[in-house]
Amino acid sequence: MGNRAYNFNAGPAALPLEVLQRAQEEFVDFKGIGMSIMEISHRSSEYEQVHNETQALLKRIFGIPDGYQILFLTGGASSQFSMIPMNFLKAGKVGSYVLTGAWAEKAVQEAALFGEVALAASSKEQKFMKIPALSEINLDPNSAYLHITSNETIEGAQFQSFPDTGNIPLIGDMSSDILSRPVDVSKFSMIYAGAQKNLGPSGVTVAIIKDDLLVDLPKTIPTMMRYETHSKNNSLYNTPPAYSIYMVNLVLKWIEEQGGLTVIEKNNIEKSGLIYSAIDSSNGFYRGPVDLGSRSNMNITFRLQDEELEKKFIKETEGQGFVGLKGHRSVGGLRASTYNAVPYASCKALAEFMTDFQQRNS
Ligand code: PMP
Repeated sequence: MGNRAYNFNAGPAALPLEVLQRAQEEFVDFKGIGMSIMEISHRSSEYEQVHNETQALLKRIFGIPDGYQILFLTGGASSQFSMIPMNFLKAGKVGSYVLTGAWAEKAVQEAALFGEVALAASSKEQKFMKIPALSEINLDPNSAYLHITSNETIEGAQFQSFPDTGNIPLIGDMSSDILSRPVDVSKFSMIYAGAQKNLGPSGVTVAIIKDDLLVDLPKTIPTMMRYETHSKNNSLYNTPPAYSIYMVNLVLKWIEEQGGLTVIEKNNIEKSGLIYSAIDSSNGFYRGPVDLGSRSNMNITFRLQDEELEKKFIKETEGQGFVGLKGHRSVGGLRASTYNAVPYASCKALAEFMTDFQQRNS
């Protein structure tokens, strides 16, 4: 399709063209029922089939062992920042966090509203340009859980491996890198992600929670804030974001058609590699601020010598069909988000543009 942009948006972000086309085909008349999936009851067999199949696909593709619940929640990943301490931070325990960037910081701030919080490690002094080494994580044995942010979307830093936390539940915010690579899910007691980067459109947040974590939870918190409410009702306590879940279903089928997470990871490394090489071979014209060992395969952040040149870069890219390359407003600079659905051709076009821009401006 000739008029598709080179979409490097950070989220909501690119969706696979095949998924959009399939959704378009089924939009007005879903599987011959004479209605769209948005126009039917969430208790209907047609919707329930999509709902349950989406869970089954995620379980298979992500390798989720038995003994985990797969929940579809609303309120974005941001609501999880408060639901986690509300449900799991019991009196007398501490909520431990690895502070790696802007999103981890929000999770910490929210938890502090509910109880005692400890920083097991922090890279704030390094301006979040490095994920702390696993050996630097100092976990309080009295922790209710350890929370990490597997990929910091704004700074562009990503965990390359995950800590072993023994009996202390490990919770991961994977909003910006879920399904970008194989993960040993069994290391985690909970993984959650807003859908709008690698899973589908916004509107649904996926939470994968180990059954063990769901016992003995407080009954005094609002019904919709209780994981138990959603786990006991298969995420159908109230009306779920049905269309978003349907889109996640199509994205998961697309991932499976690509060959699953091993192939997806290989593609992602190749894609980000094109852009990182343009940075690294630029003799300092482009500067990747993130420590080499913490570089993200999803959000590639880089800078030019000064802001004027950065503005010029953005302006020129916009004229050539590139979208979303401006860094987050809190950090400035440039950012290319290369999620699963961003095609290799877009990354190649960007790397070529970068080399050309360098030649014309140095
Ligand atoms: N965590 C991370 C790592 C994110 O990138 C984002 C969104 N960009 C969030 C949490 C918040 O997600 P939401 O907008 O769905 O609340």
